[in-house]
Amino acid sequence: MTTPQHILKHTFGYDHFRGQQETIIQTLINGQDALVLMPTGGGKSLCYQIPALLRAGTGIVISPLIALMQDQVDALTQLGIRASFLNSSLSREQVYATERALFSGGIDLLYIAPERLTQERTLQLLKQIPISLFAIDEAHCVSQWGHDFRADYLQLSLLHEHFPQIPRVALTATADSRTRNEIIQRLQLQSAQQFTSSFDRPNIQYRITPKTSPRKQLLHFLRTEHPSDSGIVYCLSRSKVDDTAAWLSSEGFTALPYHAGQTQEMRALHQKRFLVEENIIIVATIAFGMGINKPDVRFVAHLDLPKSLEAYYQETGRAGRDGKPATAWLAYGLQDVIKLRQMLEGSQGSEQHKRVERHKLDAMLGLCEITSCRRHALLHYFGETPADLDGTTASSDQTPTSIGKAPLIAAHAQGCGNCDNCLNPVRTFDATIPTQKLLSCIYRTGQRFGSQHLVDVLRGESTEKISQFRHEQLSTYGIGKELDKTQWLSILRQLTARGYLNVDMEGFGALQLTERCRPVLRSEERILLREEIPQPKASSRHKQTGNSLAKRVAEANIAEADLPLWEALRGCRRKLAEQQKVPPYVIFHDSTLLNMLEQRPRTLTEMRELSGVGVTKLERYGDAFLEVLREY
Ligand code: ADP
Ligand code: ZN
Repeated sequence: MTTPQHILKHTFGYDHFRGQQETIIQTLINGQDALVLMPTGGGKSLCYQIPALLRAGTGIVISPLIALMQDQVDALTQLGIRASFLNSSLSREQVYATERALFSGGIDLLYIAPERLTQERTLQLLKQIPISLFAIDEAHCVSQWGHDFRADYLQLSLLHEHFPQIPRVALTATADSRTRNEIIQRLQLQSAQQFTSSFDRPNIQYRITPKTSPRKQLLHFLRTEHPSDSGIVYCLSRSKVDDTAAWLSSEGFTALPYHAGQTQEMRALHQKRFLVEENIIIVATIAFGMGINKPDVRFVAHLDLPKSLEAYYQETGRAGRDGKPATAWLAYGLQDVIKLRQMLEGSQGSEQHKRVERHKLDAMLGLCEITSCRRHALLHYFGETPADLDGTTASSDQTPTSIGKAPLIAAHAQGCGNCDNCLNPVRTFDATIPTQKLLSCIYRTGQRFGSQHLVDVLRGESTEKISQFRHEQLSTYGIGKELDKTQWLSILRQLTARGYLNVDMEGFGALQLTERCRPVLRSEERILLREEIPQPKASSRHKQTGNSLAKRVAEANIAEADLPLWEALRGCRRKLAEQQKVPPYVIFHDSTLLNMLEQRPRTLTEMRELSGVGVTKLERYGDAFLEVLREY
């Protein structure tokens, strides 16, 4: 009898299960339901692929990502797994052929879009064939509060009614408890076993920097740390995506735009190029990313503030799926806060919905302004305590805590050592007096002006606006010359993020005082703010060579003398990938190639020992790589 362990080695070429994979697989083999919460790159797919191969019948995978089904099926085919999909991109003949294969028992895994699954015709079809399990991928799409909501996912509760005997597994990388509870309710998974992994992504370095001149900052980041890496740059609007991509191209990068305003063909082309080619930067709105399983995305940069920590964590989580060092870089400024608050207040949602959104945005701002470890704050928000971080299980039953509410989150004794605040500890300074000056200035100018004008008044500048409103006659005119413009803007931003100042949405972003200001003005509260360091020196981990190929090669300890062989192995992989029309990493991951370089297998049997080499890939590609190895 075949075992999960045997399939792991035989088909996938891996030696050990990761984290809770084995228990999850056993649960499904036993016919029980499961809910799997695992971070991106954690290895969710194996959790349903292996039981689908071991149980009788076809495994049905429900996925919202029509555009990626072909890629998923291609990758499985490379492993020798009989996989197929049903979605609206297929012709009638292709659908019939797939249906015939299903009836003859020729399909191990069938990918299907939710809207297709819930059609009467599909349900009838599925009732006539043996089914091993249902896997509901990206299960957070069922959440109406999330930004990936798909109405069709709500219908999936019918699986339980139509197929009560067949085990179901729901999988997601969204960590918050609210979403998890919604998944359980809406998919009727009350009796499912729950598996929660730690959401920590230790290889991702989190960095958040004040926005001064965003393009210059981004360029510096890319040039010094990721000059020839694949990565994603997120922007809020479509036009900014287009502009940024064009500008990056003019700076010598291969940058492709991606947003919902493009034609389907254009999006598909850019996505494909990102997956297949090396060193491509995708500049995108949040429309991009779900289901992209490219393992070697080395950075995710945000030029605009995400709306929530959930979105931030999901987007940054697309970096470094292969476990190698990657950077999450975000530049944010006061204008971001104003823009997002404006969008939120102007949106159609109910008051309750807006309240939730406001709370989420405040938590995001809280993360930007904290002076302690960012990773701990993030994980804390998702219900993990630092003590959990070295284990695999996490207590996530607490409700998410609000980073936004507490002026400063209590610093944990030890930081993670791989976020900007840990690498370059932030200095705080007593800002009580400047804050009082600023607050009175806002008050005396009638709470009708934005940040630029307020700073001008404080610094005693002479501008047209100042003479127009006669603000040079105010007692607060020129009382803040001791700080420069950047320092004042930083104070303004921090006070806004912490709820001392409100942005008036009707009045073009005028800043107003809130209740919280009273104790400050009465000198009953001390204000400690982060001191803006001139631009943080590049963090030690990425200094100089950054994440460039040279650095990765150095990290992987490739000796100078091995470089020609390394390049030859990569060349061989590239050629095979082109022939097979799949991305290079679908042939073999970098880690497998590195293994090859170290072990120098001389026979197919030796090659078979390497991690990532299953029997099918051995048959297909073993000889080609052996030949390269022999030449050197
Ligand atoms: P996600 O949880 O994001 O869906 P995947 O299922 O795509 O993650 O897995 C991420 C990567 O890790 C894949 O390349 C996969 O082949 C690899 N992987 C998964 N499980 C193991 C394992 N037990 N040993 C080695 N590699 C694994
Ligand atoms: Zn840290």
